[in-house]
Amino acid sequence: MESSCRIWMRRVKMATTTTSIVFRPTTSSSISPLFIPLRSSKSTLSLLSHIFHPRRSISITATLPLQSSSSPFSRTVHHQCSSSSAEDGGINPKDSQKIILKGMRYKEFENWVTSQGYRPAQALMLWKLLYGNNSKRIWAHSFEELEGSSSNLNCITKGLNKDLTKMISKHAKLKALQVKDIITASDGTRKILFTLDDGLIIETVIIPNGDKGRNTVCVSSQVGCAMNCQFCFTGRMGLRRNLTAEEIVEQAVFARRLFTSTVGPISNVVFMGMGEPLQNIENVMKAADIMVDEQGLHFSPNKVTISTSGLVPQIKRFLRHSKCALAVSLNATTDEVRNWIMPINRKYNLSLLLDTLREELQFKHKYKVLFEYVMLAGVNDSIDDAKRIIDLVKGIPCKINLITFNPHSGSHFQPTADEKMVEFRNILAEGGLTVFMRPSRGDDQMAACGQLGNPADLQAPLLKVPPKFQPSLELSL
Ligand code: SF4
Repeated sequence: MESSCRIWMRRVKMATTTTSIVFRPTTSSSISPLFIPLRSSKSTLSLLSHIFHPRRSISITATLPLQSSSSPFSRTVHHQCSSSSAEDGGINPKDSQKIILKGMRYKEFENWVTSQGYRPAQALMLWKLLYGNNSKRIWAHSFEELEGSSSNLNCITKGLNKDLTKMISKHAKLKALQVKDIITASDGTRKILFTLDDGLIIETVIIPNGDKGRNTVCVSSQVGCAMNCQFCFTGRMGLRRNLTAEEIVEQAVFARRLFTSTVGPISNVVFMGMGEPLQNIENVMKAADIMVDEQGLHFSPNKVTISTSGLVPQIKRFLRHSKCALAVSLNATTDEVRNWIMPINRKYNLSLLLDTLREELQFKHKYKVLFEYVMLAGVNDSIDDAKRIIDLVKGIPCKINLITFNPHSGSHFQPTADEKMVEFRNILAEGGLTVFMRPSRGDDQMAACGQLGNPADLQAPLLKVPPKFQPSLELSL
């Protein structure tokens, strides 16, 4: 990647449009503490060159012979995928001029097909071929599949007008992602690395939970992330760009296409991969609408969860216009801690965030927000924190999800011990809250919550640790 692309953003305007990133000349003294400039100074480079990089360890272990069975890497399975594989369908750079079918909601899609002289019924048939349905499971990625000539799909596609298929092959594009690699962790979690048309890489995670009838795909909404949450590896990358709606939808299509036969139906989608979804709200809401369309992927709206670090204006818009579920990363019970570990709190503090939810949820019927709480030893896991949560969320219909922190290189946090998590959970439950504890999944392959992405050689610097927390971080090191 070119070095010019590695400049850390200085300010981000929290707008609701997809073009929300603005670069403004600033003096060093005027730089917002929210977004720290990443400069390729010699000292930064020299410091960063000493940071252990876990992604390197993955590629190194892939070339090693199998080690003892206790090594998580010994159970790793890598599927290297050639860029010209049949599964990929081969993305041609010239395709950039074509209509992107998976970036359209159904109505828009139907309008385009009928504007080309075809009947609405043909539009519906094409839509079903792209997104499949429970009985046919097609998820077409190539024109051969649309024509039914690449396999035994003929009986399914025979009603599709041949001229329409030809027109589409000339003027439209069926897919936006190429599979680069699939990595399987010891617990069965799969991480898919996708290459985008511009060469950037995103990651998507499949979390099988067949026993409970719930297989989840965790999709990315941005390449990197600007939010700089201190416990998150993706946050070290900075933001490269927003994903388009079709790049988001395709992750769910690939999840079903690649894994339905092995792990079972993919029933849930969580927007908890790389990026802050609500900073890309336009494309995220469009992608979610496509995912819940009853004639297509048909995910239940309450099984499509959009997560946010707490962008208040976008939360309002989302709650007013979407039927999908909302998760808010809470992670602290005081502004002091949240300002440090989630710098977005300096813009939208705890009381503003929680008052907004309290107010907006009055107008939603049978709707509960999910609060995510990553437990960091000595930082946000005290008994007082648990008691404060009970007070903070009063009047907000909610569930609480306690998440084990997943360590990564360069992070000085440690996970809370299991017994302490149980004690914390019990206090919340006794306080009348619905609370879950979520075990880590896929962490041996950097596929767990907060572990996605590749900050490569330059990383966003960590923020200064408030003096009162320094002893607990040192103790936990
Ligand atoms: S936790 Fe989410 S919002 Fe925060 S830096 Fe990571 S990806 Fe971004």
